[in-house]
Amino acid sequence: MKNRIHILYIGNSAAEQQQLEELLRQALGDQLLLTWINNFNEALWPLEACYYDLVFLDYRLDGRDTIELLRRSASTEERAMPVIMLADNEDHLDDLEVIRQGAADYLSKQELSVSMLKRSVRYAIERKKIEQRLVTLSHYDALTGLANRNLFYLKLTDGIIQSLRSNKLLALFFLDLDHFKEVNDSLGHPTGDRLLQEVAARLKKATRASDTVARLGGDEFAVIATNLNSETDITLLAQKLVSSFNLPFKFGSNQINTHTSIGIALCPVHGHDPDELLRHADLALYQAKAAGRNNFKFYDSELDARAQEYRALEQEMRHALQHHDFTLHYQPMFSTDRKTVIGVEALVRWVHKVRGMIAPGDFIPLAESSGLILPLGEQVLEMACDQINQWDAIGFPQLLVAVNLSPAQFADPDLVEKIVGILKSKDVDPQRIELEITENTLMETGPEVVELLTQLNNIGIKLAIDDFGTGYSSLSYLKKFPVHKLKIDRAFIKDVTIDKDDAIIARSIIQLGQAMNLEIIAEGVETEEQLAFLRNEGCEQVQGFLFAKPMSSRGLIDWFPKQQGCIMQTEIMQAG
Ligand code: C2E
Ligand code: CA
Ligand code: CA
Repeated sequence: MKNRIHILYIGNSAAEQQQLEELLRQALGDQLLLTWINNFNEALWPLEACYYDLVFLDYRLDGRDTIELLRRSASTEERAMPVIMLADNEDHLDDLEVIRQGAADYLSKQELSVSMLKRSVRYAIERKKIEQRLVTLSHYDALTGLANRNLFYLKLTDGIIQSLRSNKLLALFFLDLDHFKEVNDSLGHPTGDRLLQEVAARLKKATRASDTVARLGGDEFAVIATNLNSETDITLLAQKLVSSFNLPFKFGSNQINTHTSIGIALCPVHGHDPDELLRHADLALYQAKAAGRNNFKFYDSELDARAQEYRALEQEMRHALQHHDFTLHYQPMFSTDRKTVIGVEALVRWVHKVRGMIAPGDFIPLAESSGLILPLGEQVLEMACDQINQWDAIGFPQLLVAVNLSPAQFADPDLVEKIVGILKSKDVDPQRIELEITENTLMETGPEVVELLTQLNNIGIKLAIDDFGTGYSSLSYLKKFPVHKLKIDRAFIKDVTIDKDDAIIARSIIQLGQAMNLEIIAEGVETEEQLAFLRNEGCEQVQGFLFAKPMSSRGLIDWFPKQQGCIMQTEIMQAG
């Protein structure tokens, strides 16, 4: 037997019910199963429960119109039941309005026929199925079966309204997996996908059926929990969510230990707008991660103030980049015998209209996290090249200029192209530039970096490893990179004459450099004792406040002759 089509008829008149049943029977044969409800109140529940395949709804019921009933059936979330509205010609019903309120079709009782009913019923049911499939697609995440971002938004909006009405708390948990990218990269996407599915299952298990668990994209998940009485309830749920990651995830022979960090925002305490709550939960998530991952944090408005300050500073920085408000200072690098200036290190400064000169420590981290370091890095190199050309034009000694590269620049696939482009356009000899890359940057990048450094080396650009000694790179590791120079980190030089361990580290870096035929420079040299130690150990180059602080180009031009004697001074005066 074919599938039954279970139809509900809602109308007052028995005669009309009989007429409709007769026609439907002819149209659908023994597929038809008809139920009749003849009063308004009894119709409410069946319409919301969505139990039938189709509803015929009379426009007039118990003397009132049934638009209200239609609206109710259409407002249930899945909208599973198509409703066909029946009306008398003299009802003068606005058919468009009826469709707009959610009806699948509108038929005039006076014009009912078998063929018309056949077509209308099949069409309404089919269209509803397609609609439902679309709803599923547009509301659920295909990989995990969780609510997707669309449904998440609907649920959040709905939950907020309920929370405000009922005076109960709504908690929004925003979470992502710690180090998911590494899992994906090392074990492959299929394993990454399975991990996400398993995570979805565990989150479902940790929550109540009435909570919404959603995947917002990538490894980002959210949980909406409603009807909560106290923050204690919320803390308990957060702990439960975090600890559902305690056991490792197993896929065949692979065992993955991954954890989650969670940011929490509450309605109405932290806001009553979906975007606001999400933004606050996101901020709290960021704090949870900064606090060491595998934990949760509630939104904190003080942190938000700081974040807003950061955002404002980022805007100012964009502006400053456009208006070239950055400048370079230059700190000389010496031979240990103090007789020769080997070169200068270019150090960026922000000349802020209100705050004056801002040191890089106060804006480089923000430039890194916002991506602005890429355009800033280009400007720095351009400024260094312009400076070289200006110095050359006035006959200033042809100094090597060291330029610092940040990790983000180093990860930029167009780095070599950009550097070559700038040097070419400024017509600067690559031999005049030295790039400083910190040891940590080098350690954190993959083998492809050897290729990149080799390209730079082939062009003739010298490479120095900055802040050396903090990254624990081995001799064999170092050998792979075509570098010229190691720069001993300031941290070891500071107490090199007091602290035995620091002295040992400084000494072994010097020996390592000598064994590898690399130049060695010590930075942050502030005292004669430190200098004596370094000279004694065979370190050939030094940099630090003992010799010179970073200075503007103008300052450097004034300073230089005093170091090198009168000959240089007359040269500059003639050229200038
Ligand atoms: P860094 O590359 O290690 O630069 C050396 C820092 O040590 C400079 O600070 C310099 O002023 C300071 N310094 C030099 N000699 C002494 C000394 O004897 N004693 C002490 N206490 N400090 C000394 P600065 O200019 O504030 O730069 C800080 C950091 O900002 C730099 O550390 C570098 O990591 C970053 N930076 C500066 N300019 C740039 C740039 O153009 N691009 C990038 N990516 N980073 C930059
Ligand atoms: Ca440096
Ligand atoms: Ca350094």
